[in-house]
Amino acid sequence: MAILFFSEVDDPDEWRQAFAAQCPDMSFRVWPDIGDPADIEVALVWHPPDNALDQFPNLRLIASLGAGVDHLFRGTGLPVGIPVSRIVDRSLTEQMVEYVVLGTLFCHRQMPAYMVQQKQANWQLLRQPLGRDRRVGVLGLGELGMASARALKALQFDVAGWSRSPKNDAEIPDYVGTEGLKDFLARTDILVCLLPLTPQTEGLLNAAQFARLPHGASFVNAGRGGHVVEGDLLAALDSGQLNHAMLDVFQAEPLPAESPFWSHPGVTLTPHVASITNASSGTALVLENLQRVRAGDAPLYEVVPSEGY
Ligand code: NDP
Repeated sequence: MAILFFSEVDDPDEWRQAFAAQCPDMSFRVWPDIGDPADIEVALVWHPPDNALDQFPNLRLIASLGAGVDHLFRGTGLPVGIPVSRIVDRSLTEQMVEYVVLGTLFCHRQMPAYMVQQKQANWQLLRQPLGRDRRVGVLGLGELGMASARALKALQFDVAGWSRSPKNDAEIPDYVGTEGLKDFLARTDILVCLLPLTPQTEGLLNAAQFARLPHGASFVNAGRGGHVVEGDLLAALDSGQLNHAMLDVFQAEPLPAESPFWSHPGVTLTPHVASITNASSGTALVLENLQRVRAGDAPLYEVVPSEGY
């Protein structure tokens, strides 16, 4: 039996080596060299082409190469009845926590302003609030959001979160659903987005929501570009409603050369690198899930297609 790999951004050799080390008997096929379609038991994919997964009669598992699965639910959809799993992994969480802490501290410690001052050889001290007086709000209190919220709390930030269902966490107060969003935004100086992209969250961060943040708030987006109405974000930065945005994800990736985000003074950006799946631990999870589906069990971290995450 064989595994099919498709990704235009991940290195297939790294994954091939990980599978060879952990399951030498399994054939590793990289799209479009699929061999006999009947051999394919697992599709390990990132942004697969439309209908690409329809041709495998013995497919048992569709495994996302990342934590996010929105790339699977775009386009024409997936073959019906095949379980879909995503990556939940300590190394992925650790990297995301680093990124969120980096972005939050960058904004909190006023690095954008100090970088401008450095260019001007301007030695000027800016008034610095304490972390405990800085209100950070994390959109999405799932695997990545809750770990990030806890790390920020450990740094003494005043942290709250927003999710669909109550978390009742002793440390992280949470606001729930559409009714909780307004109050959540009103108390958020630094907004961190770690939501999944679903029909409910697409375009969530628009002019109206940015206007609910305190004037001069900052924004760290490591969720998806589709959460943001990008023109509204640029307008909020231009008006000063938002002071700074640290952005890892965009509606169009790679970010087109003509995008205003590249040169906007209110933006620091990275090329969708906040957290990258580790091939070794990712392979171990996919192989464990293959055992589970072969035994008739659900895979770990199964996605609910009707929920979109
Ligand atoms: P989880 O599924 O564990 O958590 C998602 C969270 O979002 C949950 O708390 C969920 O609420 C909440 N949520 C979902 N829909 C809504 C909604 N409509 N309203 C309010 N809250 C909602 O996901 P992860 O933490 O593992 O990953 C989050 C996202 O991070 C991924 O989907 C991906 O887009 C992004 N990501 C980005 C990476 C990067 O490098 N930039 C790398 C990895 C992931 P509830 O708990 O109530 O279900």
